[in-house]
Amino acid sequence: MELTKLEMLYEGKAKKVYKTEVQDQLIVTYKDDATAFNGEKKGSIAEKGAINNQMSAILFQLLEEMGVENHFISLINEREMVVKSVTILPLEVIVRNVTAGSMAKRLGLEEGKILKSPVLEFCYKNDELGDPLINDDHAIALELATKEQIQYIKEQALKVNEILQEFFLTKGLKLVDFKLEFGVYDGKVILADEISPDTCRLWDSNTNEKLDKDRFRRDLGNVEEAYQEVLNRLKK
Ligand code: UDP
Repeated sequence: MELTKLEMLYEGKAKKVYKTEVQDQLIVTYKDDATAFNGEKKGSIAEKGAINNQMSAILFQLLEEMGVENHFISLINEREMVVKSVTILPLEVIVRNVTAGSMAKRLGLEEGKILKSPVLEFCYKNDELGDPLINDDHAIALELATKEQIQYIKEQALKVNEILQEFFLTKGLKLVDFKLEFGVYDGKVILADEISPDTCRLWDSNTNEKLDKDRFRRDLGNVEEAYQEVLNRLKK
């Protein structure tokens, strides 16, 4: 069925979310706007919306096939997808395979060190506080999620890591780290949000060239080209 975009429910930094005539289905429009450092740095990346939408669709479909339930329903066009309407849990779930970003900084590590085993982190999704790092006990005690939900999220996040790491490697990409968000749909926790170069660190597996949002965050140049390169490789 063709869905129609009705009222806009929410506009975030990178996406707009619209109601549709189907109660539990929403339309997400991906924007070219880019922000970093908790909104301090603002800009725009040409075609980012279209790239992130298509890349998320490819990865959500792959994950569904591999048994990871998620909110993706269908692609509408280059920039838009239909998703299940979930209640997002206020958690950012980060999985790391290689040291980079905030973990490298916090622990005084060089970037690029392969971790002996994947590291899973939780951040409390709160812009005013700058998404502070928390642990499972905080999440449960503060009722951000139940103990059972946290256990399930951890299992799912590590499974997503296995699947994506292997898939990206076949495309010549190293999955350094990434952020996931989960939501509740029909009483069950499922994967939601997006999976794109905005939310993953991806390095060329031969050269370690950064092909993700760090090109924007760190003013490395060729930002658009990097996003396009990732989508091209995934489509091959
Ligand atoms: N990340 C994200 N949104 C955030 C924070 C982090 O998508 O609000 C992603 C980021 O792109 C990277 C991973 O999560 O792939 C780990 O990010 P990190 O904690 O190193 O923070 P950053 O260096 O991005 O501030």
